[in-house]
This record gives sequence, C-alpha cells and structure tokens, in this order.
Amino acid sequence: MATGTFAESGADLELVGITKRFPGFTAIENLDLFIPAGSFFALLGPSGCGKTTTLRLVAGLEEPTEGKILIGGKDVTNMKSYQRPVNTVFQSYALFPHMTVLENVAFGLHRRGIKDAVAKAHEALILVELDHVANRKPQQLSGGQQQRVALARAVVNRPALLLLDEPLGALDLKLRRQMQLELKAIQTEVGLTFLHVTHDQEEAMTMADTVAVMNKGRIEQMGAPQELYELPRTAFVASFLGQSNLFTGQVVASTSDTISLDIAGNHIVVPKARAARHTGLVTVGVRPEKLTLHTETQTHDAGQNVLTGGVVKDVSFSGVSTQYIVSFPDVGDIVVFAQNMVFGPVVHEGAIVSVSWNIERGFGIEDHPE
Ligand code: ATP
Repeated sequence: MATGTFAESGADLELVGITKRFPGFTAIENLDLFIPAGSFFALLGPSGCGKTTTLRLVAGLEEPTEGKILIGGKDVTNMKSYQRPVNTVFQSYALFPHMTVLENVAFGLHRRGIKDAVAKAHEALILVELDHVANRKPQQLSGGQQQRVALARAVVNRPALLLLDEPLGALDLKLRRQMQLELKAIQTEVGLTFLHVTHDQEEAMTMADTVAVMNKGRIEQMGAPQELYELPRTAFVASFLGQSNLFTGQVVASTSDTISLDIAGNHIVVPKARAARHTGLVTVGVRPEKLTLHTETQTHDAGQNVLTGGVVKDVSFSGVSTQYIVSFPDVGDIVVFAQNMVFGPVVHEGAIVSVSWNIERGFGIEDHPE
C-alpha cells in the first residue's frame, strides 16, 4: 500500500446507555459500547437489527432517545452532525458526476477554505492508489475504483472516526473480497478509528480487530473474530457467524474437567471451561469443519464424541470442501464440512456413517436455540 502522511491517530468512541425509539418501535435498547482509538471495529448483524441506526446516531443524523455519545472523551450528543469529527462512507458512492476524481476528493477541503486542498487530495488518492486517474470523471472508473475515491474523500480531512455503512455492498463478490483487504490495509495506514457496519460475517471477520454481533437492537457478543467464532456465547451468534451444530440435553455426569450430556441416548462431552453451564439443560455445539465423517463403524475413543447410525441426506461439492448433511434418528440433521483431499466427495447420499469430534473442539452456549 502506498505510504502517505496519514499517521494521525483516530479517537475512541463511547456509547453510554443509548436507546433509540421510533414511534411504536425501539430500534436500539440501552447500548453500551467502547471502541478504542485506531481500531477497526465491525458492527455485524442481520437486516433490521439496528446497525445503521447506531451509525446515524454517531454521525449525528439521528438523536438518541436516551444516553450519551463521546468521541475522544468529548460529549458530542448534542453536537450538530457537521461539527462532529466524523465522516461516513456509504454503499452508494455519492460522487459528483460532473467533477473529476481530484475535484471530488478536494471538494470538502475547498469549501472549508483549506489552502493546500489539492495537495491533500493527491495525497489521499495516492493512499488509495488512484492518483493516476485524478483527472477522470467518476463514470470512467470501475465500481471498486469509485468506492476507493469515496474512501479518499472521506479520509482526506482526517476525521477522528470513519463510519462505513456497507461500503462494499454494491461490488461483486470477487471485488468485494479484494477491497476488504485493501480497506484493512488503508485503515492500518491512516490509523483512524473505523466503525464498519455490515451483515456479511466473512467481511466483518476478515477486516475487523473487534466484532460486535448485534441482534434486535442489542449487542449479543463482542470480541476478536476468532474468539467469537470459536466460543460463541449465544445460539444466535453461533448460527450467524458461520454454521453450527447445536445440541440441547440434560447434564448426566461431570468430572472436574468435563460435563456429559444425554442427547437422545448419546453421550456428548464438553470441557467445563468451554461450557456456559454445568448442570440442568445445557446447549453445546460444534462447527461443521471440526467433524470427521466415517463410513466404517467407529470405536469410542475417550477423547472423542461419536454419533453413529447417520444417513447422508445431501452432498454438496464446493471446490475446496464438501458439505454433507447427515441425518441422525432422534438427534436431527448434522452439517459436516470435509476438505476435498482426493478427487471429489468420497461419501455419497444414502451412505450410513458416523460422525466424531475431539471433545476439546466443542463449545457451550448460554441460551438454547429458539
Ligand atoms: P439494514 O442492514 O437492513 O440496513 P439495520 O440493521 O441497519 O438494517 P436499521 O436501519 O438500523 O437496521 O433499522 C433498525 C430498525 O429500526 C428497523 O426495524 C427499522 O425498520 C427501524 N427504523 C429505522 N429508522 C426508522 C424510522 N425513521 N422510523 C421508524 N422505524 C425506523
């Protein structure tokens, strides 16, 4: 990535007890959030969970019903949107079609009477590797390039905080994946605080240092991407971030290190450290790629959970891996991802199989699936 002089750090963002009610509808409920300066933070959740509303509250485009917003320790709750040290990049690039790329990037600086606006705009274009098209009009650029111009325009005046609302949503999948890496590199380069809103879990996990998973106006879980993936605390997080196989059953035995559940006559063991509860009705899970599929009968290894007598219901080949849906009487359907080490899937529909996983690879959650 090009080097520039954007090494000014961003500011931290703090939301304290934010509630946002629209007539007849509460979009955000008592939200507390702290985003450290210079971090790449993703707010991830399904459509309608309140992500955009949160972003609009931070930008000053909506007023909270209750609560406070602090940027760099300063209370901005009652500050007008244009007074806040914040810029937003939207999915629609909103570039001026009659202006060149350079004019688009320099526009805000000119309006504020900043002297070296053109030099600063060039610097921002170098950052996004588009200085060579500075004199073109936006429509002469690809979608990805236009989005990079929008990004250059958003960082050119060095806001303390950059808000990104599904900024890559209009790009095709391949370009989106490429832009995710570029955006991450640009954030590292400029050192600003990025608050990125997306419903794409892969996008959030690829780019962000910290991800907050939002559901129905609340944050269900927040943490490093790997932590959320390996140790989801709720059924929603377990299913929203990738796929999960969840099992709910009574605890029937426990040792100092493990608990065992009865799942339709099968014993499923989970390390205590990974289980949210140790007694009563407990839900545990395992990711599909942590499972091994066996066509021959498995003997029960002490370190393994094993389910036997499954029938392969569906096989979908997807290049590097194959997804199998295996139906177990009384337990239900289990999803298994297997790496394709040989030519094509090795197990076919209708095959009788067992599934095993190392007990260390399971996790326990706090609630039960709905
Ligand atoms: P999407 O990904 O679809 O944009 P989102 O998670 O960003 O979804 P928001 O746009 O924040 O969701 O909306 C949260 C909820 O608040 C939705 O149910 C929406 O209908 C509601 N909402 C948003 N703005 C208003 C408004 N001005 N008046 C009434 N309800 C609103």
